[in-house]
Amino acid sequence: MDFDPLLAPAILCLGPDGQETARRIRSGCPEAAISGLAGPVEGAEILHDSVEAALRDLYRRDQPIVALCASATVFRALGPLLKPDQPEPPVLAVAEDGGAVVPLLGLRRGANRLARIVGAALGVTPAITLPDCDPTAQRPTGTARRGRLAVVGLGPGCGGLMAPEAREELRRARHVIGYETYVRLAGPFRADQIIHASDNRVEMDRARHAFTLAAAGESVVVVSSGDPGIFAMATAVLEALHQADEPGWHRDVELVVVPGISAAQVAAARAGAPIGHDFCILSLSDNLKPWPIILDRLGHAAAADLVIALYNPISRARPWQLGEALDLLRRHRAPETPVVLGRDVGRPDEKVWTVRLDALTPEQVDMRTVVIVGSSTTQAFHRADGGAWVYTPRWYGESSAQAAS
Ligand code: SAH
Repeated sequence: MDFDPLLAPAILCLGPDGQETARRIRSGCPEAAISGLAGPVEGAEILHDSVEAALRDLYRRDQPIVALCASATVFRALGPLLKPDQPEPPVLAVAEDGGAVVPLLGLRRGANRLARIVGAALGVTPAITLPDCDPTAQRPTGTARRGRLAVVGLGPGCGGLMAPEAREELRRARHVIGYETYVRLAGPFRADQIIHASDNRVEMDRARHAFTLAAAGESVVVVSSGDPGIFAMATAVLEALHQADEPGWHRDVELVVVPGISAAQVAAARAGAPIGHDFCILSLSDNLKPWPIILDRLGHAAAADLVIALYNPISRARPWQLGEALDLLRRHRAPETPVVLGRDVGRPDEKVWTVRLDALTPEQVDMRTVVIVGSSTTQAFHRADGGAWVYTPRWYGESSAQAAS
């Protein structure tokens, strides 16, 4: 896993007017630090006495700089330090109101690329005055760069259950964004790939970060476990695109969603074929939807005699909901209804087992478990290893054998 110093520039903010712009730049460069002058800039992480001192100090530390000030200020401060043929860090001048982005120095080390990312975060096209001479640039100079944003499902765990198309997107991406656990499942990565792993639960921030990078011409992959469209990142990415007033996100980004095998499919396959007839997937998480709606839906699904796969069945923050859901299901289903439990499916500690509905307790379930509750026709029978095969026949009412007798 690599850390790209280009994407962790110091944003030099000289006064309160630039603070909002500095914060917007950070939506494209979350690893950036805001650096300010003692006095006028509240909450700046590093304080300096004068603009010139700040610029010189950062420059001497070979730190990429995004300076919210006039280009002339930068040259007055850094001019005396510039030497021909000496490598210089990327330095951009950005108007305090965010209306202009100009790469000034460090064109050999990605200044134009940084300018595109900062420009994308601010919704402006950077004033590129000299073509890229950055040897690490992804594409030839001068051409409009179309970024790529792939929202990818990893499947349930590692190895064989990931689609080749997902693997290909991971290979071609420069940036990998996602929840830490899933990013780890997606590895290993090459040294030139940049990993933005986070515990951050705010999916919309992650989605906006991904668009900002892609709109600047970068190739970005956003990873989810299972299928990205099932309680996962694809929705946040589409919502971010729909809500943001960012024409560049539509025009300059090639967006693709790559499906993955979802947890219920893996658990079902291990158990036989419990979702072989009509079924539904419900999330029991009431973080994003009210509990009464969940119960109402569950009641309708049970009354419709669907096989029901429960995702997010329980967590420390939601200890009692599963018990209430099971009480409701027991009012609709016979006590012997087969329930398939799949824990960590597709991962090294996978465990899949079957219980009767009347024997199922919340203690058997955790947040890494998917619970598949059979319909009135779901069958279970012993298998040689002591477990059970479970299936839901595709006929309804009388079987052909019964009809003939
Ligand atoms: N996008 C994922 C689902 C995310 S919701 C998918 O399509 O699989 C998270 C819930 O999915 C978990 O609480 C659990 O119920 C289920 N889940 C995800 N991965 C799982 C796995 N490997 N084993 C068992 N359940 C899993």
